[in-house]
Formats: sequence, C-alpha cells, structure tokens
Amino acid sequence: MSQLVDNFGRKITYLRVSITDRCNYRCIYCQPEEQFKFISHEEILRYEEIVEIIEEAVNLGVTKVRITGGEPLVRKGVVGFIKKLREIKKLEDISLTTNGFFLSEYAVKLKGAGLNRVNISLDSLQEEKYKKITRGGSLEKALKGIDSALKAGLLPIKINTVLIRGINDDEVEDFVRLALERPLNIRFIEFMPSGEEVINEFENKFISVQEIKEKLIKKYLLNPIKISTANGPAKYYQIKGGQGTIGFITALSQHFCKTCNRIRLTSEGKLRPCLFSNKEIDIKKAIRQLARDKDQRFLRKEIIRDKLKEAVKIKPEGHKLNIKNQENLSFHMSRIGG
Ligand code: SAM
Repeated sequence: MSQLVDNFGRKITYLRVSITDRCNYRCIYCQPEEQFKFISHEEILRYEEIVEIIEEAVNLGVTKVRITGGEPLVRKGVVGFIKKLREIKKLEDISLTTNGFFLSEYAVKLKGAGLNRVNISLDSLQEEKYKKITRGGSLEKALKGIDSALKAGLLPIKINTVLIRGINDDEVEDFVRLALERPLNIRFIEFMPSGEEVINEFENKFISVQEIKEKLIKKYLLNPIKISTANGPAKYYQIKGGQGTIGFITALSQHFCKTCNRIRLTSEGKLRPCLFSNKEIDIKKAIRQLARDKDQRFLRKEIIRDKLKEAVKIKPEGHKLNIKNQENLSFHMSRIGG
C-alpha cells in the first residue's frame, strides 16, 4: 500500500491523537482562565472511530502514535482503548502524554493494556508554583505518578518542562538535579504562542533553550546521546554521573520542520498537518456520512485513507513563527493535542 509522503518528500510516520479537549488542569500557557467552551460529547470522536483512523494510518506507514489531550486520563475507557490499539499489527510504539495526576491509579493498567511509555508534564518542583502554573494542580500527585510510571516500566519516561521567563527559569538546575538522581529524561521546551492571552505577553515570557543550555554548559559536562525512542525534535545530553538525561526542544528559536514526520488528529475529528497552521481536514464528517455496517467497511477505510493523504498533501513546508511574529495564529494545545 502507498505511504504518506508530503509535497516536500517528508515521510509521515507519527500520528499524535487528542482523545479529549477536557483537562483537570488549566495551565496558564495552555488554557484561558475563564470557563473554556468544551466540545460536546457527540462532536468528540468515538474510540472506535479513532481506532479505525489509526488502523488506516498504520496501513499507510505510521508506526508511532502518541495519545494526548486535554488530559487523556480524564476520558473514561482509556485502558480499553489502548488495548485495542495494541492489537494493530505494525503499530510499533504507543505513548501517552499526561499531567500525571491520575497516573498512580493508571500506570500498571496502562502498561498491561500495551502502552509503551509516557511523557509527563512538570513545570515546577515547588508546590505553590506548580499550583499557580497549573491553576490548582497537585505536585505531590504528579511526583507519585512519576514513581508509579517508573515502577510499571512505562519507559523511557520523558518529563516535559515548558520554560517561562520570570516564572520557572530559576528552577532549571533543580530539574537538572532530578535528572542526575533519577532515570528520567527531562526536556526543556520552549514556550509556544498558543491562545490570545499568551500572545500578548509572549515576548517578555519567552526564553530560548539556547540561553539555558549556555548557562548549564558552564557548570555541567553534557555529553550528547541518542535515546532509542527519540527521533523527534529533542536533542538529549547525559550529565556526567547522572541516571537520567536532559533534552532541549527549540520549537520556536530553531524550527525542526525539515524533519517533521507528524500529523495530528484533534479530539473533534480534524486532521491537522502542522501545529502552527490553522489548516485542517475534517475526517469525522467524512466517516460519519457512512453507516458503520459491514457492507460499508471497505468504503470507510478508503475514505479514511483518502483524508489522511489529503491532510499530508496540505502540510506546509514549515512555519514562519518566531518570537516577534505570531502571525494571526490562534490555537489552544488542549484542543489540538500537544
Ligand atoms: N494534559 C496533558 C499534559 O499535561 O501533558 C497532555 C496535553 S498537554 C496540551 C501536552 C503538552 O503540551 C504538555 O507537555 C504541555 O506542557 C504542552 N504545551 C501546552 N501549551 C504549550 C505552550 N504554549 N508552549 C509549549 N508547550 C505547551
């Protein structure tokens, strides 16, 4: 069967799937403070629809799927859903991004269902600050979640730390210490301009990972290394004497569009070929027009494959965003899936 290759020769092998726009947190850089208008239940893709889409994506060469949200662990039935994904032959890697709140309850079940690994968001190691950034979250629960994921063997564990000037850039060395003491891969991520409320203050709050790296290099011996599951945008380093690693993701200061191998599926059933472009393809509408009976099965599969190909064909060569230019971009990661 043909593969998903875009107009610039990039092979698409990675699908990021948001299964809900709902989240138990409202992180300051991700969601507005006021009540967010959530997508209604009927408009959210059903698990069986998502599985069907992933099956066809795998038939077209996708080998890696990341489940995200919103907070994926707030959606009921997530363990059964992972089990179904595990049944898809040729799907090599299933991972999940979470804030960790429910992980102590779910880690063993997720591992049992066939989940390979988790990324856990953690933007502060200070209880009060963590609460402020997440607007009410629990650092204790997140840390317990990390412990449970380690015990369950959801490895390698990547910790996502979004750096925001004046808020958590003073904690960089505490995170480095965490990577020294525990087998965790800490990834410092550049803050991205999502949502109007963030864009207004963006220039003052943005901090390039280059700036952080230069400071760390003066103090620590950083050896570049490769992580088996990491052929994405992060560059990883081992710190002498440490159990874990640190990594840097330069979403804004250095684009990694040239090697981008991913597209996204939003929780409301839109294929989004680039996070930073508002262009989307409505796959839900196309598949809901067909009944789910057996006779329509092959036609549905064909339509899904066509929509995936269509999305890949409109994938832009790259984005032109930088610290000063956010164009007229307006998106919330919780809707699209970070
Ligand atoms: N609820 C889950 C979590 O907290 O990890 C999954 C969804 S969250 C949208 C996925 C990732 O997107 C998180 O690691 C978060 O830090 C990141 N993210 C959200 N908004 C961002 C922004 N404006 N800049 C950089 N990263 C962002």
